[in-house]
Amino acid sequence: MKVIDLINNSKTTAFSFEVLPPLKGNGIEKVYKTIDTLREFDPKYINITTHRSEMVYKTMENGLFKCVAERHRPGTVAIAAAIKNKYNINVVPHILCSGFSKEETEYVLIDLDFLGIHDLLLLRGDKAKHDSSFKPVANGYSHATELQVQINRFNEGYFEDGTKMKEERVEKFSYGVAGYPEKHDESPNLESDIAYLKQKVEAGAEYVVTQMFFDNQKYFDFVKRCREEGINVPVIPGIKPITKMSQLNILPKVFHVDIPEAFASELRKCKTDEEAKRAGIEWCIMQAKELKANNVPSIHFYTMSDASSVKQIAKNVY
Ligand code: FAD
Repeated sequence: MKVIDLINNSKTTAFSFEVLPPLKGNGIEKVYKTIDTLREFDPKYINITTHRSEMVYKTMENGLFKCVAERHRPGTVAIAAAIKNKYNINVVPHILCSGFSKEETEYVLIDLDFLGIHDLLLLRGDKAKHDSSFKPVANGYSHATELQVQINRFNEGYFEDGTKMKEERVEKFSYGVAGYPEKHDESPNLESDIAYLKQKVEAGAEYVVTQMFFDNQKYFDFVKRCREEGINVPVIPGIKPITKMSQLNILPKVFHVDIPEAFASELRKCKTDEEAKRAGIEWCIMQAKELKANNVPSIHFYTMSDASSVKQIAKNVY
């Protein structure tokens, strides 16, 4: 069953979370540990993030530096397959424009098709750290909408060079896309952002997963605006428990989201990360309970490699 069917068939608010591929050089055990910690809450699906390569300086033997492209967290496709095989849970690898050419994406799609993985989350991806703004790679894409065109054509049985596949596709890819209750940082306004979101839904996105937010009212307002604009697919709230004092300032900067003053003042009182984590869990429980009481289709947790907080939240909510 596809993710959209699992969400639609779920009688109550579904539970899902995302995992990050391990940093290059580390094993997969930490990923399994995260899943083992959260499995009891019956996750309907697990997302696996994708990370583009970044330019890093390496010192050569002669003491000079060379600049090389390196992927710090490779392995999304393999991790998706490993999770699916080990746990028999639906997996949703993230497919990015950022850092990938059309050909590279095509090979990823072929691999996923062979592996029987047909749920995707399509994203533009973040800009490279060394760039001041997003730049597509040669023969790559600037927006998720262009990626959708490639997936749709693949579903119809066409490769990027226009050739037709030799065999009829048995199972097609289904996908969701990202939405931003507090608008995407590059968008001039929420109207324009929602207009592009509508394009993504009209082009075939079956559901939307939101950027993290800490004020539920922003999510409720966003869903209302989406409905007014004719976006009628499920809009899945994504939430994240704060786990460190430093995130009070880092998360707004990185993800362009507000932290409500009531929560910010609680975090400012914290003297240790342990206290901040406790406050983060309490706030997230409050958010999740309210979202569930409002019958949201599913709650997606950004674990960001800290499953223990999500476990405590889920225990109180599911
Ligand atoms: P787009 O839909 O392309 O939108 C980007 C901006 O362009 C927006 O301002 C939008 O309004 C505008 N826009 C959209 N379409 C068009 C168009 N056709 N023409 C002109 N303007 C347009 N990043 C990663 O690198 N890896 C991940 O695994 C990852 N996972 C994520 C998961 C979720 C649930 C979310 C919400 C975000 C995730 N991100 C990830 C971050 C995401 O890639 C960034 O926020 C990125 O800057 C935008 O991605 P997008 O798919 O929303 O882009």
